Amino acid sequence: MPDTNPIDPVLLDRLAEVAIKVGLQLQEGQDLVLTAPLAALPLVRRIAEHAYKAGAGIVQPIFSDEEITLARYRNAHDLSFDRAADWLFEGMGKAFGANAARLAISAENPMLLAGQDVEKVSRANRATSRAYKPALEKITGFDINWNIVSYPNPSWARLVFPDDPEAVAVKKLATAIFAASRVDVDDPIGAWSAHNARLKDRWTWLNGQAFSALHYTGPGTDLTIGLADGHRWKGGASEAKNGITCNPNIPTEEVFTTPHKDRVSGTVRSTKPLSHNGTLITDIAVKFEMGRIVEAHATKGADVFNKLLDTDEGARRIGEVALVPHSSPISQSGILFYNTLFDENAASHIALGQCYADCFIGGTKLTQDEIASRGGNSSLIHVDWMIGSGEIDIDGIGADGSRTAVMRKGEWA
Ligand code: ZN
Ligand code: ZN
Repeated sequence: MPDTNPIDPVLLDRLAEVAIKVGLQLQEGQDLVLTAPLAALPLVRRIAEHAYKAGAGIVQPIFSDEEITLARYRNAHDLSFDRAADWLFEGMGKAFGANAARLAISAENPMLLAGQDVEKVSRANRATSRAYKPALEKITGFDINWNIVSYPNPSWARLVFPDDPEAVAVKKLATAIFAASRVDVDDPIGAWSAHNARLKDRWTWLNGQAFSALHYTGPGTDLTIGLADGHRWKGGASEAKNGITCNPNIPTEEVFTTPHKDRVSGTVRSTKPLSHNGTLITDIAVKFEMGRIVEAHATKGADVFNKLLDTDEGARRIGEVALVPHSSPISQSGILFYNTLFDENAASHIALGQCYADCFIGGTKLTQDEIASRGGNSSLIHVDWMIGSGEIDIDGIGADGSRTAVMRKGEWA
């Protein structure tokens, strides 16, 4: 019999094992809250098995379904779009407060809501962001161990490989996910420790340099990003406040820190399209003054991008700066995934909106006010977009104004 399953079951099982053992380091007795699109059920089942083998208390999946999401946009009363399932997010917050781990399977069709009323999509997102905020803060504040992995959802695969029949597209996306997640090697867990060690070398060097700003130059880009006071660089594995060392993103290639929300100036152009709420936003060009975006252009999706910037005051400022070499395997694959988990690991990027408290020295103990006074941004959104390429040079600027080469032509200098 020919093998008709386009997703290799052995590699899928390894991905589940890596999510539990490397991504979460799930502990004996820990509960697990898991969100996933229904299409990812085969991976959810493998994850649940590895979670219980690792001693999980309760594994609770929460599924979403594309047809049910669309049914809302097609049929729901207008009032529905200013609401969210508050009780669900309260329950998640309660679970995290009781030290449950969090695992998300990121595999949605990024174009699902293309063609729906932009206003309704943005209202629904805002309502969800508001309802989710208290629970999300336990994740962004790194109270608990959390992890995101991916799955080759057919509706997503068709978008990434539009010229292939569905089974071929799924197989190609599965292969790309397994390779980027380092589970296509004999010893994935060993491969992850080696990768984490390499990332640690990078952030250790950056922390030693203690730059006060980074200066980016390239086509359409002349940007100075001041770094937050007391910032620290991170990447790969890190320890959550609950004492568990986890790998939040699988895959991951970035080292990142918190910029100063008031000290960003100059112009920058996006180097890859940003997929947001079913809209592809291309050729973003923005101008920053004192940390704030004062001009924004895009060839396509400008209205969606401007709506995003209007979410709240913090949406016009950045909360993350991340360095990724142009030679990263995801970048070299040449695939545009339309999914931040992958695309942000293909290029150096910045994120509009919320900062990570954990990117401050002693950050997990700082209050919101202390984070703000050090330059940490606050917003309902956190949206990454790519500004790195093989044509970008980055200098680190010391407190005394000295310049050190950080990246040349997109590679570590
Ligand atoms: Zn990032
Ligand atoms: Zn980010």
